Amino acid sequence: MSKYWNKKINDIEPYVAGEQPKPGQKVIKLNTNENPFPPSPVIRAVMRTFDIGDLRLYPDTDATDFIEAVAQRECVKPSQVFAGNGSDEVLALCFQTFFEKEGNTDLPVLTPDYSYSFYPVFEQFYDIRSKKIPLREDLRLEADDYIGVPNCGIAIANPNAPTSRSISLMDIKKIAKGNPDSVVIIDEAYVEFSDPYFTAVDLLPDCPNLIVVRTMSKSYSLAGLRVGYAIGSEELIEGLKRARDSFNSYPTDRIAQRIAYAAVRDNEYHMACIDEIIRTRKFTEFALRGLGFKMPESSANFVFAKPPQGIDAETLYKNLRAKGILVRYFKTEGINDRLRISIGTRQDMEQLIAAVKQEVSNVKDS
Ligand SMILES: *Cc1c(COP(=O)(O)O)cnc(C)c1O
Repeated sequence: MSKYWNKKINDIEPYVAGEQPKPGQKVIKLNTNENPFPPSPVIRAVMRTFDIGDLRLYPDTDATDFIEAVAQRECVKPSQVFAGNGSDEVLALCFQTFFEKEGNTDLPVLTPDYSYSFYPVFEQFYDIRSKKIPLREDLRLEADDYIGVPNCGIAIANPNAPTSRSISLMDIKKIAKGNPDSVVIIDEAYVEFSDPYFTAVDLLPDCPNLIVVRTMSKSYSLAGLRVGYAIGSEELIEGLKRARDSFNSYPTDRIAQRIAYAAVRDNEYHMACIDEIIRTRKFTEFALRGLGFKMPESSANFVFAKPPQGIDAETLYKNLRAKGILVRYFKTEGINDRLRISIGTRQDMEQLIAAVKQEVSNVKDS
């Protein structure tokens, strides 16, 4: 509390990011869904040719080279792509641009309960009403639950976090078509890890109210760079640019634009990292299930695992932490019996499994 802060800042409950260990601290870090592999090796070469003198100049507002590379990859027009300072910023701009429309201030934004914990923070920060739609059995999202519910917008992460489950394009289409006056955000932070791959971008020609949000943080191993983007109709993208230019007209810097461009162009390396992570995810699911854990089939670079009878999730989280293995535990009621475990390298996961095995046998012995 401070008398110098306004009411909103005094009242808000900010987003809590996963713990980042201190530099030099040796841990196996499986708590924030970062990629265990380094970014594309092409980036090093690109940075060698970067002229530091250019930093005296403002960057290109639209990150034109980058959005053209994205547009080409996704088979859309560059005018359908918007780049921002991480997808968190792109999502924040979406909430400001598309939700809480004039005259409809009582209508809520619909989000799944449970989903990305930044959505409720945006809602609070931008004074938008919120309605959480409960998930069904085993954390499954039912598209019908989003039909006929008055709203001023919808935000869904697909694959969802922290549940790791995804819904089909048919379900997304049903939600978009069933809410033609609302913008539907599909947050595809983890979409590249779905197997087989599919994206809501393919629905755009048919659903002008869809906006797909992506990040370079997860599958491209660039969480430290802060670049995210949105793909949608020209009308929606133009709205985002208006919001951006009323807030910060240079969201991506010159270095970030060059690196993000190079990363998107290196398709081969991107695919190889994703393949390896999917393989390691399957190994991890198999090994954890063998130890009695239950979890939905993951479409992301993490699993959301419920420990076997007799093992408390929070205790397991603490014991793993003591062994230098960081995973994510949410105190939230309803999911406080699970751990969200990011997929690291095969070696990381073997060490995790060995540590978990030890915990499980300790409990059995006692
Ligand atoms: C990680 C994550 C983001 C944030 O990505 P940044 O681009 O790093 O801001 C957005 N949405 C979801 C669901 C995420 O898990």
